[in-house]
Amino acid sequence: MDYLPLYLDVRDTVCLVVGGDAVALRKIRLLLSAGARIRLVAPDILEELAGMLDHQRHEIIQRPFLDEDLSGVRLVIAATDSDAVNGAVAEAAKARGLTVNVVDGAEQGNAIMPAIIDRSPLIVSVSSAGKAPVLARLLRTRLESLLPDGYGRLAELAGSFRTQVKARFSSLNDRRYFWEKVLGGPAAEQALAGNMEQARKMIGQALDAQDEQQVGEVYLVGGGPGDPDLLTFRALRLMQQADVVLHDRLVSEDVLALCRRDADYVYVGKRRDQHTLPQGDINMLLVKLAKEGKRVLRLKGGDPFIFGRGGEEIDTLAEEGIPFQVVPGITAASGCASYAGIPLTHRDYAQSVRFVTGHLKDGGYDLNWSEMVRKDQTLVFYMGLMGLPRICQELVDHGRSPETPVALIQQGTTRDQRVYTGTLDSIVSDIAEIKIKPPTLIIVGEVVQLHERLKWFGLEQENA
Ligand code: SAH
Repeated sequence: MDYLPLYLDVRDTVCLVVGGDAVALRKIRLLLSAGARIRLVAPDILEELAGMLDHQRHEIIQRPFLDEDLSGVRLVIAATDSDAVNGAVAEAAKARGLTVNVVDGAEQGNAIMPAIIDRSPLIVSVSSAGKAPVLARLLRTRLESLLPDGYGRLAELAGSFRTQVKARFSSLNDRRYFWEKVLGGPAAEQALAGNMEQARKMIGQALDAQDEQQVGEVYLVGGGPGDPDLLTFRALRLMQQADVVLHDRLVSEDVLALCRRDADYVYVGKRRDQHTLPQGDINMLLVKLAKEGKRVLRLKGGDPFIFGRGGEEIDTLAEEGIPFQVVPGITAASGCASYAGIPLTHRDYAQSVRFVTGHLKDGGYDLNWSEMVRKDQTLVFYMGLMGLPRICQELVDHGRSPETPVALIQQGTTRDQRVYTGTLDSIVSDIAEIKIKPPTLIIVGEVVQLHERLKWFGLEQENA
């Protein structure tokens, strides 16, 4: 190791910063967030910087650095744009045995500043020993996405139970085991989701009843329309920690591949040609698995609350008192529209958008067509491929122009995405010869005209 990582307590100690521009400003922000008193020395000081420091607590000295500036100082940061000045500051500081960091000059000082991920009280730092700071920052960005915003809350919460846990378990091993279970379990998830009271209650219960079987939890997660890049951070995290995964046809292979490898997978179907579990059985299966203490991922295509029957599944859970959370996903309408270059609303063409089920019931529709014929409204039909002729017919019969543009988006956001366009009048015959593969979304409205101009995704396939 080139450096020993250490966290410094600088609260109420004097930290000297030499330099008065944007670089110094960034360092000063950091020092202030750690509670330091700043002594700022530079001949020229940014107005913004001077304004940031309250004169009662901090010192602003407007002149070049002098050796005397080091007296009573805990930490020195040389942040000028001159190597010579930075070097002189570093030498003087080292001569006094002080800790000194030179911005962009690791070798001149004796301490470096890592890239940090701040989830206070939890702090993660990354350093490349000054060799490749940009790489360290890139790594930091990746870690940022792995560490949910709520980790700080979770650490605070755990901290507030420390004394109690110590009193309950005398051995270090038992305490560690307890924390491993709690921090990887439903209480932690509740804390990360912001339900602090619930989390507190659950940790309390875990403390009281160590040996009893704990009830698991259910994550109802939207897996988006297909492209795994469209998952949310939270979706990915829960996908990687679930013990059991219940998925259906709509969840893309690429998304499914990101779930924990050694989880149990249950296909609950919804393919017309395969045996599938009725909805009631899915609801009961979720309850059963959670009661066995499992962390159950119910992974749905798109968003669970948009034509996803997500409400029914968690209704049963709520009734049984099983902890759950719902993670939104990008719904097919958003995903397909973006990837097809069709804005769903547009100042000139559409002032509203309506998501409609195109699922045929007993060969017909129970929809209020007369509400759907306004020219300035975009319609998005889910599950509408079978009913397409009927949908077009009803819209025209109720007064929407037969010239209204229509787009059919097959397997949107995936490598197999295809977009077919036509009008209410023509689309059925336009696609008569084409074998369209599900899932397919139908967009009706003037905004579809924009596709030709704004399309950007999968153009090679389309031209192939
Ligand atoms: N909960 C899902 C919708 C489930 S209903 C969501 O929010 O997206 C199933 C319908 O969604 C399909 O019949 C199809 O119309 C649409 N759909 C889902 N994913 C799609 C995709 N990748 N491309 C096109 N349509 C899609």
